[in-house]
Amino acid sequence: MHRWRAHYVFRLRTPSTVRASRKIYAAAQARAYATGTRYALTDEERAQLPGLDFSEPHSMVNHPIPLVPVAQMYRRDVPDFAGPDGVDLLQVLWCPLDHSEEGYNPRVRLYWRRSADVSRPLAAAPEPPVVNDSYLPTACVVHPEQIREYQYAELLPEELAAQITVWEEESGEESDDDEGIDYQFDLSLAPGWKVGGFANWGLTDPHPMDCTKCGTAMTLLFTADSSEWHGSGGSWRPVEDPAEAPRNPTDVSIGRSYALYIFRCPVSFDHPPATTMR
Ligand SMILES: [Zn+2]
Ligand SMILES: [Zn+2]
Repeated sequence: MHRWRAHYVFRLRTPSTVRASRKIYAAAQARAYATGTRYALTDEERAQLPGLDFSEPHSMVNHPIPLVPVAQMYRRDVPDFAGPDGVDLLQVLWCPLDHSEEGYNPRVRLYWRRSADVSRPLAAAPEPPVVNDSYLPTACVVHPEQIREYQYAELLPEELAAQITVWEEESGEESDDDEGIDYQFDLSLAPGWKVGGFANWGLTDPHPMDCTKCGTAMTLLFTADSSEWHGSGGSWRPVEDPAEAPRNPTDVSIGRSYALYIFRCPVSFDHPPATTMR
C-alpha cells in the first residue's frame, strides 16, 4: 500500500474497465485475423470504450492501493531462479501507478517465500480501486525456455566487441539479402519477460546499477517488457506460437514500449533491489 503523495496521477481506470476494454480490442483483433480484414472497431464497440482521456477522479488514489501480482515463479520451474537459501517461490508485485521517484514507473516489491508456508492462499488478490492501465497485467501461463544471453556489446571487452563487429560485417556480405546477423538484436539479448540474463541498454548508454547498501554492481533478476519480440520477431519469436499470437500477451506497457529491469545485489538478498526503465 502507498500513500497518495507517492503517486504521479494522470489517467486512472478501474481494473474492470481495463479488462472490459481489452476484451473489446481482442475481439476486434480476432475478427481481423479470422476474416483477413484490417483491424477495426465497430461503432458499438467504440461506444463501450472509455474516451482516450477519460479518468476516474484523481481523488481515488487517496484510497489504499493494494499491490497487484505481476509474476510468480517456483525454483523448480525456473533454472535461473535466484533467491535466498531455503525459499522456492518468488513473487513480484508492484503498485500499478506512476511513481516519480521510480522514474515514473510502477514501484516493484519482491517477496521470496517458502511455498510450504503458504497454507491459506487468498482466492483472489485484492483489487486496487484504480490503476494506470499499462501496469495491470493480463494473467498468462508461462512456458519457460532457457537460453544463453551475452552481455550488451558496449560492456564487452573492447577486443571482443571489435571481433563481433568484423564478424557481423562478414556475415552481412555473405548473406543473399544483405541482411547479416546482428549481435545485439538477433543473438545476445532476448526481448520479452525474462528471469536473469542481461539488460539491453540500447535506449541510453549503459548505466551502472550499484547496490545502494554496499556499492556492489547488481545483477539482473527479472525483466517486465512491453512486448515479447520486436518488429517481425526475428530470432526471438517462439516457433511454437501461432501466427496470430499477440506480441504483448501481458498487456503491460512500460514507458514508450520499453522494459522495466529489476536488479538485485549479488552480496545479499537483504539489500534492496533496484529498477530501471530502458
Ligand atoms: Zn504506489
Ligand atoms: Zn549490496
